[in-house]
Amino acid sequence: MDDLRDLYQEIILDHGKAPRNFRHPEDANHESYGHNPMCGDRVRVFVKVGEDQTIADVAFDGKGCAISLASASMMTEVLRGKTLEQARYLVEKFRALIKGETTQESADIELDSELGTLPVLSGVKAFPSRIKCATLPWHTFVAALDGREETTTTD
Ligand code: ZN
Repeated sequence: MDDLRDLYQEIILDHGKAPRNFRHPEDANHESYGHNPMCGDRVRVFVKVGEDQTIADVAFDGKGCAISLASASMMTEVLRGKTLEQARYLVEKFRALIKGETTQESADIELDSELGTLPVLSGVKAFPSRIKCATLPWHTFVAALDGREETTTTD
């Protein structure tokens, strides 16, 4: 179990240090700014929705703690290429996972499936103050799709 926890830690640190898709795509057609006043995390999420209504590109920039950056980084990897419907479904699934509404068994099973490595972030549910760090990029992604210019974790 400790080995597994070390692995989780390693994945989070890796994404936090070298976030994927940390850039501002010029052709993004949706964007939003998210702020988590509890921790000070600030992210902008950029989305390009293609004509076929799939996520053609998703990227982010901003400043935040390792959890928020890792979550944003993993989010961009998971959502790319998904339909809007699938993307919104995954957002809900991730929220449930982080808030502890999913059992550990199902989290383990899902490790290699739809959510990719995201279940590693489920460890934050033991630290309620960090839950908002993990969910901020996802809130911001939905705000971008919904055409809201900004959002905070208190919404
Ligand atoms: Zn944070």
